[in-house]
Amino acid sequence: MSFKMRASPVDLPDRIDRLNELSYNLWWTWQPRARALFRELDPVLWGVCKENPVLFLHRIDPTRLSRAVEDPAFLGQYDDVMMRFDTMINASDSETWLAHRHPELLDKKVAYFSAEFGLHRALPIYSGGLGVLAGDHIKEASDMGIPLTAVSLLYRQGYLQQRLDSSGWQHDVPAHLEPDSEPTTQVLNEDGTPVLIEVDLQDGPGSLCLAVWQVQVGRVSLYLLDSDVDGNPEWTRQLSSRLYGGDTEHRLRQEIVLGIGGVRLLRALGIEPNYWHANEGHAALSMLERLREYVHEGKSFEEAQDLVRASTVFTTHTPVPAGHDIFSPQMIDRYFSSYWPELGLDQEEFLALGRHGDDPGFNFTALSLRLSAHRNGVSEKHGEVSRQMWHDIWPDTGPETAPIQSITNGVHLRTWISPAMRRVYSRYQPRYWKDQQEKQHVWDTILNIPDDEFWAAHQQAKQALIAEMHERSRKRYVEGQFDAWQVLSSGPFQNPNVLTLGFARRFATYKRATLIFRDIDRLARILSNAEHPVQLIFAGKAHPADEGGKKFIQDIYLKARDPRLGGRVAFVEDYEMGLASLLVAGVDVWLNNPRYPLEASGTSGMKAAANGVPNFSILDGWWIEGWEPGNRNGWGIESSPRQGDAQDEAEANMMYEMLEEQIVPLYYQRQADGLPHDWIQVAKEAIRTVAPRFSARRMLIDYVEKLYAPAAGVTVGEEVAAR
Ligand SMILES: *Cc1c(COP(=O)(O)O)cnc(C)c1O
Repeated sequence: MSFKMRASPVDLPDRIDRLNELSYNLWWTWQPRARALFRELDPVLWGVCKENPVLFLHRIDPTRLSRAVEDPAFLGQYDDVMMRFDTMINASDSETWLAHRHPELLDKKVAYFSAEFGLHRALPIYSGGLGVLAGDHIKEASDMGIPLTAVSLLYRQGYLQQRLDSSGWQHDVPAHLEPDSEPTTQVLNEDGTPVLIEVDLQDGPGSLCLAVWQVQVGRVSLYLLDSDVDGNPEWTRQLSSRLYGGDTEHRLRQEIVLGIGGVRLLRALGIEPNYWHANEGHAALSMLERLREYVHEGKSFEEAQDLVRASTVFTTHTPVPAGHDIFSPQMIDRYFSSYWPELGLDQEEFLALGRHGDDPGFNFTALSLRLSAHRNGVSEKHGEVSRQMWHDIWPDTGPETAPIQSITNGVHLRTWISPAMRRVYSRYQPRYWKDQQEKQHVWDTILNIPDDEFWAAHQQAKQALIAEMHERSRKRYVEGQFDAWQVLSSGPFQNPNVLTLGFARRFATYKRATLIFRDIDRLARILSNAEHPVQLIFAGKAHPADEGGKKFIQDIYLKARDPRLGGRVAFVEDYEMGLASLLVAGVDVWLNNPRYPLEASGTSGMKAAANGVPNFSILDGWWIEGWEPGNRNGWGIESSPRQGDAQDEAEANMMYEMLEEQIVPLYYQRQADGLPHDWIQVAKEAIRTVAPRFSARRMLIDYVEKLYAPAAGVTVGEEVAAR
């Protein structure tokens, strides 16, 4: 079978008509030269289209294109980008990292399932860290030549867009994702009809048809299932419309689509994975569906279970109880009572697969842990916490010995290092840095960057952030959507010469976004110090059902206009990957103060550090591993052994003290040339120590060597296994 894709290319001048092809491969998102190519055609429209090149090429004024074809400089850039594109696409397998390090894995295909993917701001099918991590994972898999196929859902309303009203209350506005103007192409049969995948929703009116869209991410294909198909009953057409919208039952139906539909999709396309990776319990049903296939072929349940386990990798992502899918036995009955006979199980045996402790519910993390033999948490600490949480799944193990490993998260450096910083690094790093990102010596060269050059690049990133904040509020104001108070909350007084702390992430309450406001008078003294002022920039969305998180946002939004805080606090609406890139590079310090030990890993702090923005963070998640004692690459806040409010109080006080005594004085301690040399030392050290060890490259190497190779049934060299 072969499949044609339906795309809607634009009529472009012949000389540059491969821009169409480029616009449909998200590879451009991590190639500064390719980004510049689109932007230079029409910088204003590029911003209006949220850097979505498919939409951009549809809308661009043809005279701009004809002018570009006459411009030798543009054509030179175009040829250069297309040459790199071809090199990437055609790189024979022998040239990739995998070919050099693990050729035995070259013909072992992996399927990677995730309920969300954060690839670029223009494709809003992610909500936060989990999705961005999945996006970084597949970008890096493409760079390294790992034969990976990814599966998820197409959410036509995306995740929510955040709008704050005058009182600071979050309103959740759906996005409208039009697949035709996105870098997505529908997968068609030879005869031009759409490929459709069927899934049964036991409780519903029979089976449901799913269309399939493809997103190309370098050499990796991501397939998205879409329930909005003519002929499906109205309520099922909404099924894949919104990420994490709706109730538990809606969630279960979405996970049936992802897990069961996802396996059937790969079968229909003739893709035969050798092993499978489920990113979080949302994808648990893919394991069950593969089990059903084996039983259908005549294997016993035990044999089938062994086969599935041996070839499955499972990553758990959070110790927060609400982060795990648990469904009531009644609901499981409704959806699976005709499924379990197909596995050769009765009701009791089936429910036992999802049991955890005394909870009568059916737990998808427990199910995933039982059906996979290669399991991990996402930092050393989180591995430890997960072993404690889940050891009862294996009666003969304990909290120390439960079979869950740790692989600490990492970030895709080529996505997250700002253009300004990248330009400076590249003058001092060896040319082959991309191929050896995980090696320390490639980053030791950061120390050779002259301080003035380093600081100029950082200030440039800071200016870019502040300019964008001002521009966003200006636009909202003139469109009449913001009143003057809202403008005040959005940071009109932000000043590029003032020490700036950034805090941006999902507003889950355990992340305690409001902690720094605990002693408002003390904070006011820190922020409004006449000679050494400090400013704070916040951003982040609360889950639509999380009233507590929305209350935190409102608190901060109102604080931002409190004159006591001197106009030094800002809240920027609608945190997404575009704003994230500006923030992680453009502030001076990255603040994070979750309640220990609930931050499984955290990744935004890695992005900041890689841009020379030191972390100021509770020692939790990845920062326990990343922080250098003596605060040489950022500041570690010991969590207090006290509980609840007393803990908050102790940790807030520690934060004020560190700000007053260490962070503020270091930033404003300037030498004769006006530069904060000691500060720059910390910033460079942040890059040098964090970039290699918390890169997606290092993370993927760990996955390949610790989990993927065994799941593919391949043994890697002893010297590798011993690490
Ligand atoms: C990196 C990122 C996150 C994850 O942030 P944490 O601080 O690790 O929770 C969330 N949202 C966006 C848009 C990101 O880019």
